[in-house]
Amino acid sequence: MKEALDELILCLRRRIEPYVSYDEVQQWPPGQLEQLMQMRVVVPTMPAKEYTCRECHGKECGGISLTVQRNTQTGQDVGMFLCREESGAGLKQVSLDHLRRWEIIPDKKKPEPVVHKVESVAVADVPEQKLSPADEKAYQSYCIAEQSLGKCTDKEAYEWLEEHGDPDYELPSFDTWHKYVRNGRKYHNTNKNTRRAGRKTSAPSVKDDPALLSQISNRHSKYPVESEKAD
Ligand SMILES: [Zn+2]
Repeated sequence: MKEALDELILCLRRRIEPYVSYDEVQQWPPGQLEQLMQMRVVVPTMPAKEYTCRECHGKECGGISLTVQRNTQTGQDVGMFLCREESGAGLKQVSLDHLRRWEIIPDKKKPEPVVHKVESVAVADVPEQKLSPADEKAYQSYCIAEQSLGKCTDKEAYEWLEEHGDPDYELPSFDTWHKYVRNGRKYHNTNKNTRRAGRKTSAPSVKDDPALLSQISNRHSKYPVESEKAD
């Protein structure tokens, strides 16, 4: 579930046009829009000024400019557009509801990560909760950082949190935080290595990443050198 959501968020953020249309939102599972709004991935924005006509099937009738006018019969504001289809051409209207749009917020602009929703779900699902609030908070903060950073080390996540984390969450020292996060992972059964194994979109393993591999082998070869230096 969470991974599907991550996937969706990634796809949204890769878009050139940072908007989600009303029609698209209708395809999402129930609650999805609300969740993404709460996570500040999308925010409601100005209604669309262009419309793709739905009334002339298979015809080229997209990107039509709209004007908003009051329908004198219903007294409601509607979007008016000129359908280009030859036989049915003419002024048509669309409800303003259908013109709603949501802007996709890039990571850096994300004003505040929302932690409590995820937290309460975890608590509700597992009544015999053994994880301490500190563990849980640290773990959730890691998840938020990971959502923004994609593949990242715990250290990178921690550094990201230092800059972008929820100001209400008082970040402990790295070692303490790291311990909490590991507890959280153990509890949520999302051990970094096992969870990510074999998934295309997840962090590559060490053996897939020559840079990382050489970094590690450098680190190993460094130890004997250092002990020699001590002489
Ligand atoms: Zn049309």
